[in-house]
Amino acid sequence: MPGSPRAAMKIHQLAIPDVLASVRSSAQGLDSAEAAARLAEYGPNRVEPLAREPAWLRLAKEFTHLFSIILWIAAGLAFVADGFDPAQGMARVGWAVVAVILVSGLFSFWQELRVERTLAALQGLLPPRAEVLRDGVAHRLPVAELVPGDVIVLAQGDSVPADCRLIETFGMRVNRATVTGESRPRSCDAGPSDEERALDARNILLAGTAVVAGQGRAVVYATGAHTEFGRIARLTQRGGDASPLRREIARLSRRIALLALGMGAAFFVAGRLMGVPFWRDAILSLGIIIALVPEGLLPTLTLSLVLAAQRLARHNVLIRHLPSVETLGSVTVICTDKTGTLTENHLRVCRLVLGLDAADPATPGLAARHPLFFRVARGCQDLAESRCDGRLQLDGDPLEIALVELAAPHVPPPSARLDEWPFDSTRMRQSVLLADADGPLLVCKGAPERVLPLCGAVDDGAAIRPLDAPARARLQAAQDDMAEAGLRVIALAARRLPPGTPHDAAESDLVLCGLVGLADPPRAEVDSAIATCRAAGIKVVMVTGDHPRTALAIARQIGLVQGAAPRIVTGPELARLHPAQLQLALDAPEILFARVAADQKMRIVEALKAKGQVVAVTGDGVNDAPALAAAHIGIAMGRSGTDVAKEAADMVLLDDHFASIVAAIAEGRAVFRNIRKFLTYVLVHNVAELVPTLAFAVFRIPLPLTPVQALAIDMGTDSLTALGLGVERGDPAQMRRPPRARTARLLSLAVALRAYLFLGLFEAVAVLAVFCQVLAGGGWAYGADLPADSLLYRQATTASFATVVVLQIVNVFLCRSAVRSILVTGLGGNRLILGGVALEAGLLALIAYTPWGNALFGTAPLPAGAWLALLPWAAGMILIEEARKLWVRRRLARTATGAPS
Ligand code: ADP
Ligand code: MG
Repeated sequence: MPGSPRAAMKIHQLAIPDVLASVRSSAQGLDSAEAAARLAEYGPNRVEPLAREPAWLRLAKEFTHLFSIILWIAAGLAFVADGFDPAQGMARVGWAVVAVILVSGLFSFWQELRVERTLAALQGLLPPRAEVLRDGVAHRLPVAELVPGDVIVLAQGDSVPADCRLIETFGMRVNRATVTGESRPRSCDAGPSDEERALDARNILLAGTAVVAGQGRAVVYATGAHTEFGRIARLTQRGGDASPLRREIARLSRRIALLALGMGAAFFVAGRLMGVPFWRDAILSLGIIIALVPEGLLPTLTLSLVLAAQRLARHNVLIRHLPSVETLGSVTVICTDKTGTLTENHLRVCRLVLGLDAADPATPGLAARHPLFFRVARGCQDLAESRCDGRLQLDGDPLEIALVELAAPHVPPPSARLDEWPFDSTRMRQSVLLADADGPLLVCKGAPERVLPLCGAVDDGAAIRPLDAPARARLQAAQDDMAEAGLRVIALAARRLPPGTPHDAAESDLVLCGLVGLADPPRAEVDSAIATCRAAGIKVVMVTGDHPRTALAIARQIGLVQGAAPRIVTGPELARLHPAQLQLALDAPEILFARVAADQKMRIVEALKAKGQVVAVTGDGVNDAPALAAAHIGIAMGRSGTDVAKEAADMVLLDDHFASIVAAIAEGRAVFRNIRKFLTYVLVHNVAELVPTLAFAVFRIPLPLTPVQALAIDMGTDSLTALGLGVERGDPAQMRRPPRARTARLLSLAVALRAYLFLGLFEAVAVLAVFCQVLAGGGWAYGADLPADSLLYRQATTASFATVVVLQIVNVFLCRSAVRSILVTGLGGNRLILGGVALEAGLLALIAYTPWGNALFGTAPLPAGAWLALLPWAAGMILIEEARKLWVRRRLARTATGAPS
């Protein structure tokens, strides 16, 4: 802090002029040159992330996962075995396993880095900004540019960007939970305080806290690491709470690891009983374990989530928590706002009621006859106004922009404001006290239901008359009429405030000036997005603060309501409903909530969750934050949303558009399916590696596939194709089916049967058949001894290896869909898969046909006969899978409603 004139006093104890002097600033803020100089001196207003785990530690962790540990033990045993009996060449198996651990560890480390970089880049799409006075004009600047001495303007919903001292406030309350842990918001005050610690003073705002009500101005005195927040460095990063998918993957990994260990152990025991030499038996069991461990599962999962998040960013959806991508796919209900999400939030004044009489806004001379009405429209607002080439530039609530644009040509700008009663969605009105030449004038606007009861009289331009029952009935009819047409209706009122009126008693005894009907057209593509939701079995529930009739009119326009008698629940009714009644009401096929306050959204979300629904909810205000946090997917608005809402949300809609939510759900559905495709593909080769090994043990044939060859498939040939399946584009038809059940497992019975018993077994039989055919062709007879280094044995295992690789090339295309024909899914469209196929073929050629490959993998060039033997199996695999898919499609068409797995 620059030198203070009253060195003995702390910043919260000083009077406002002394505060400003102490940071060498003024009520108009800094000029830009001074700000730039201070930025160079004090540095950007950023808290650098806490020192993370060092990279080497994170790298080390990649080599100590459950799967890695199993593999380390396997490698160790192989080396020990080699020590006992070097002739078996077990060292080579050991080195191969070590290579697998290193490759898969490095790969997943690289993926993690990529995820981090991508997420950081995505966060950068939405830099936090603050309203700052520079050269006397308000700008929205990135918070990183704030310096001590800056004067900032704060309003409801803003995060406090730096430690600052208030110099003006109107009804401001701040939630300091992030810094001090106190849960109740407390009210603020600009005057000097005599507390000992700045932390306790009511005139100090701490960085990282949130303004939950009111507004004010403050001067910054500490930025970046010098703030209280920076000092305690308690970052708001939410911990990596396990998502359902992560838990599911963890469960699956444990199961597969157990299965692998169990199979390995069983074989070891069986081998010993049948008299297999100890070390040979141990290595065989290790081969089984290695074959069954799906090394690529975790990195593939993360990669597919990150790529989906990247695609979503292109659809203007910013994912704040990676696992939410997948949760999106199971959403069954979307609770959505109306204004701005379903509609454009570009309001236009369409109709007026001046006093009690309807008027066309285009009629000339209205302002001369109804001056008070126009002064309320001009003055009751919180817009940031500036002039550019003599034209008025307005920034803020579109409703207020529409009113000010109506009134500004006719009345002068409002005089200084003395006090205010801010808008919030519970009060549904706003008042401002203006310093008028004839004394303080209170101007008020808001929902007619909330303003009319405060009015005792009406100003019809000529005179002020009492607001009697017939007058109220006329106004009600006028309001209903406008609402029926889908217009948002606002009442305007005013009052000369007698001196000495307490703040809380000011909004009463108002004089009604009239009503305004504003049109807010539905956004383009909303109707088709609603239709998509209908087809996809997702219920859309509108939750709005607007009038029921307005809400219903809009809902009909966009096709959200088609029936004659939708259920409409209003806020007051909602308050009376018992939770059980609310749950029953939510059974209605078409339901909308109107005139509800944002804090009532929470109840709707809770009721839907109690019904077992997966709920997505949108929100923008401070009061929406609890509902956003409680829902399975909280969606904040990027444009109209407050910082508080964005921080509570799982994702942010950069364009506020409902259609973007639906696009995001489609991506979420694709992710789950892709992981299943990947899983199916990998399990198939695992079975193809395992079963021949079993045959070796049970039928005493030579070992069809050596452990090193199996590893070459797991980590080499199949790696890229498997990854490619993890990032497949979604099937357009998936949005014509209902959401998957909450309980749906990744490895469902259908997936397991298809992978293990259908495709897997087929591939295993193919391997055995080709292997035996090559052996028989080379003159081997059952029971004869076949040395491991004989040419015939090498050729036969190479044939097994080639069979797995070729069938997996076929299989990757079969796995692109569990129901659609390969003729529909085609071969192209996924570069990773095509690249993966090239890799498979290239590696196969290297391993089978180069001396280097032959030496390393114990292979030999294949005779043409082997190729002839294996190709019919590839064709057969396509045929049987196409037949199965045809059968599934038929069955689906018959049941029509059932979700395929
Ligand atoms: P929505 O769900 O449509 O966004 P809001 O909670 O924002 O509804 O608003 C609820 C009601 O409050 C509106 O129907 C309108 O009557 C009133 N209202 C909205 N914005 C303002 C404002 N800036 N000033 C006064 N009243 C407002
Ligand atoms: Mg609103």
